[in-house]
This record gives sequence, structure tokens and C-alpha cells, in this order.
Amino acid sequence: MILLKSPQEIAKMEKANRYVAEILAEIKERIRPGMETRELDVIAEEGCRRRQVKPAFKGYRNFPACICVSVNEEVVHGIPGHRRLKEGDLVSLDFGVQCDGFFGDAAITVAVGEVSSQARRLMRATEESLYAAINQVKAGERLSNLSHATQKVVEDYGFAVIRQFVGHGIGRSLHEDPQLPNFGPPGRGPIMQVGLTLAIEPMTSAGSWQVRILKDGWTAVTKDGSLSAHFEHTVALTEKGVLILSKL
Ligand code: MG
Repeated sequence: MILLKSPQEIAKMEKANRYVAEILAEIKERIRPGMETRELDVIAEEGCRRRQVKPAFKGYRNFPACICVSVNEEVVHGIPGHRRLKEGDLVSLDFGVQCDGFFGDAAITVAVGEVSSQARRLMRATEESLYAAINQVKAGERLSNLSHATQKVVEDYGFAVIRQFVGHGIGRSLHEDPQLPNFGPPGRGPIMQVGLTLAIEPMTSAGSWQVRILKDGWTAVTKDGSLSAHFEHTVALTEKGVLILSKL
């Protein structure tokens, strides 16, 4: 069941998502070669403490950190630790908070220093595909238009969309209906209505879309070891059209 949100509820979600965007921007600003990925988690945790909000991922199904840090072939759900970032790494940061009873969720992929031209293209394709999906958020239209738009952009670049993970509704819960795959034909699924709130999150691979999960039980990596990127925004469908809540 899709839980539509009132303008008051969307205002609360806007606040939660603004904090998410601010904290992600802080991390992006401070990321450097030589840092351990757990240092990024410390920045996220301090950002939450300063704003008196609760990190959404810590403890979620026993996830041990505030932020997911996924490097290079890691697609999503990477656990911050002692791995040191180096020049040329591609780092995906997925982060959420809970504030006034509502969740915010967003992700960015950041280049550590100079990265390869393939890495830059993959980032561009992934972010572009996110905005292509956001442009399809329209009252009266079908949800799978977003899936199709995402896949088209990514595949036109010659890359692949990850199929094992999906975007999702969001609100008083981190994950609500509907599920939003990043691939598939348009014109299917639920009809979008004003009050819909979605976390749209294309994940991509420079090689094959297949992933496997590491022994830590969380980290998803591309099976063929190719580079991966991830961008996510939480958006709301309002009377005035789509609103990106997790944008500064
Ligand atoms: Mg999400």
C-alpha cells in the first residue's frame, strides 16, 4: 500500500532530507586520499549529533554504521572500516536520517582526486539517469516510466543498471511501498498521485549488472569486478509537480 503524504508531512520530510544533503556535502568536501572509510562514518555521526537527528541506517537490520561507503567495485551497503581511500577511487556514499518521525535518504558518488575517464562517465551517466527518472514523476502517469527512463540513459552510455536493488517509497518508514526497479518497460505499475514520496536510486556498473554479497553479509560488489556508481534523491510529488527534497 502506497502511503500518500500531506503537505505538512512533506515539509517534515524536506527537513530530514535537507540534513541528509548537508551531511553528504560535508563528507564530499572533506574526502581525501589516505583517509580510512571509517573516518567518513565519524563525520556522518558528528553531523547527526550536531543537528540532533538520528542516523537511519545504524542498527537497521543490524547494520553497524551511520553511512554506507562503497568503493570502486562495491555497489552498495559497504561497511566503513580501515580501508584507506586512494587517488583514483570512486566512493559511493549512501546516507539517511530520521527527524520528527520522518526519514530522509540520499546517495552520491564522489571521485577521490583524479579518476579515470571511464569513472567520470559512469558517474555522469548515473546522475543523469537519476534526473531522467525524476523528470518522469508526474501525477496520473505510471511508476515504471521512471524505471525505463533510468535504464535508457545508463544503457545509452554503454553501462548497465544493477537489477538486484531497487528504489522505494519513504516516509515514516525508511522503506515503504512501492518498490522502484531501475529497469523495465514504461507504462506499468501504480499510477502516481500527489503525495507520493520516493527514494529514487539508480546503481550502475561499467560492466555486467550482476552482483554478489561479500562475507560480511552486507557489501554488494559487481561480480565481474567492474566499477560501480550510485546516486539517490528523495522526491515528493506535490500539486506543483515533483520536488527534490534531498537537494541543497
Ligand atoms: Mg534508499
